[in-house]
Amino acid sequence: MEIKKGIAVSPGISIAKSMIIDSEDYRIPRRSIEPSQRMIEVQRVRNAFRDAISELTRLEAAQDQAEGGKIKDIFAVHLRFMHDRSLRKRITDLIHSEFVTAEYAVSTVLRQIASHFTKVKDAYISERAADIYDIERRLLRQLLGKKREDIGHLTEEVVIVARELSPTQTAGFNKEFVKGIASDAGGRTSHAAIVARSLGIPAVVALEDFTEYVSGGDTVIVDGNRGIVIVNPDDQTIRQYQEYSREFAELEHRLDAIRRKPAVTRDGVEITLLGNIEFPDEAEVVLEKGGEGIGLYRTEFLYLNTDREPTEQDHYEAYAKAVQICADRPVIIRTVDLGADKYTQSKRFAPEPNPFLGLRSIRFCLQNLMMFKAQLRAILRVSVLGDVKIMFPLITNRQELMQAKMILRDVMEDLDEESIPYKRDVQVGIMIETPSAALTAYSLARDVDFFSIGTNDLTQYTLAVDRGNELVSTLYSSVDPAVLRLIRTVIQDAHKAQIDVSVCGEMASEPQYIMLLLGIGVRTISIASPMIPEIKQIIRSVTMEDCNKLARKVLSMNSERQISSYLRNSARKILPEAF
Ligand code: PEP
Ligand code: MG
Repeated sequence: MEIKKGIAVSPGISIAKSMIIDSEDYRIPRRSIEPSQRMIEVQRVRNAFRDAISELTRLEAAQDQAEGGKIKDIFAVHLRFMHDRSLRKRITDLIHSEFVTAEYAVSTVLRQIASHFTKVKDAYISERAADIYDIERRLLRQLLGKKREDIGHLTEEVVIVARELSPTQTAGFNKEFVKGIASDAGGRTSHAAIVARSLGIPAVVALEDFTEYVSGGDTVIVDGNRGIVIVNPDDQTIRQYQEYSREFAELEHRLDAIRRKPAVTRDGVEITLLGNIEFPDEAEVVLEKGGEGIGLYRTEFLYLNTDREPTEQDHYEAYAKAVQICADRPVIIRTVDLGADKYTQSKRFAPEPNPFLGLRSIRFCLQNLMMFKAQLRAILRVSVLGDVKIMFPLITNRQELMQAKMILRDVMEDLDEESIPYKRDVQVGIMIETPSAALTAYSLARDVDFFSIGTNDLTQYTLAVDRGNELVSTLYSSVDPAVLRLIRTVIQDAHKAQIDVSVCGEMASEPQYIMLLLGIGVRTISIASPMIPEIKQIIRSVTMEDCNKLARKVLSMNSERQISSYLRNSARKILPEAF
């Protein structure tokens, strides 16, 4: 039995056999196999070589037609290398002697060769290392591609174990069979974690070297409440976790009772409780859980599971579905937030050196006007179907906002010319998720109808801590005094300008932070649907007077640690079962 502690990112408890997914971009962890499995792994290596060789042969032949001389030579070199029997022998020898998986053996042997090449002084030879890495990736794609397909055709319940998961991979999980997630990398607000929470799959991330302790098929417990995972638990531990799981289900059941009740404090202050979605169908879950509409629709997910660019009609159909589900309730459609950790399939292999500070979000849209305009047309077209609002993400200055609004006006004119109806006075808002936007909120407020504070990014950019990097996850906190000061500034500036302001970052779904947010003036929040009942329960258990008192106290503190522990203790008194 092995117990590991990570960060709890999606509540609930699961006990199931592990299924390991590797990513070709990362080191393949060493995992032992039973002696009897060695021939199976050797056969997998043979099949991978066979399939990779036929893939390369096809590619080489295609180059003939395209008369691509240089590229053809490269493929020929790769093919010669792969036909080398001694290479295959080195790999299979490693499986026999060390009892390791095909992936590990391929990766280890090819990286040894590449590193050997790199050390040779001759530039021509040292540059061949890149070819070896290329061959490694091609073989790993063959080996791992089959497993990826398996994920789509699961027939039994599993806990997914991975070094790192992308938001796209996570969004593809079938929650009927994927019962838990455990990953080495990630943080509380990394997008894969956000998706796991939306799907309601218990998840623990930032487990650092967990993948090295698990083999496929091991029994794994994922405790998404306490941030613990356990490999091969003993009988007593399994019984204890079955009990925890029953208690958690009871709590959920009790919370069911308040779903239809309003989110109002004991002294009568009404709070608007909205849901965050990535896919249109999720709107239904938000309403079921007691949400009053959609406060953040992350539309970029339309791009993540497909190899082709979504058309205006694809956008339209997705939004129309969400809007129709919500009837006359608000639906805030955020324009695409691609880049950083959310790449389209075609951009996946051209990463930027510093993607979170790079061409992401509104910047990406402003440089890809065709795409941006197609999305804006679709949003405007659905605006006549319900209470639709438009929101621009990652605004960093006024000029960017003006540019985005100008393009929106252009699109409106195009629709006018084509006599296509839309809501002329559709509300336009922005996300406040950079310190620069927070510090100039007083000025930005003049040109928008609402703000939504994206605390996930605001925290990352204020504290200079990557939201998805487990190595610095202890430094990431939305209740750091610096972040709180910015949030308070934004709320005050919005109130002064008399525009709406909400919080849609993960901070608003943390039970221990909710009183603080109310106390500093927040009256609208948007959160992952599974958290709605619990957050509503807390809102209904407090008075605004208590919240104001708590906020005053917190804002007088100057250490994140002090604030965190004070908030945890206060929340524990209100909903002890949740902690
Ligand atoms: C945020 O940054 O807080 C936010 C809600 O946007 P996302 O998590 O999609 O970056
Ligand atoms: Mg964001």
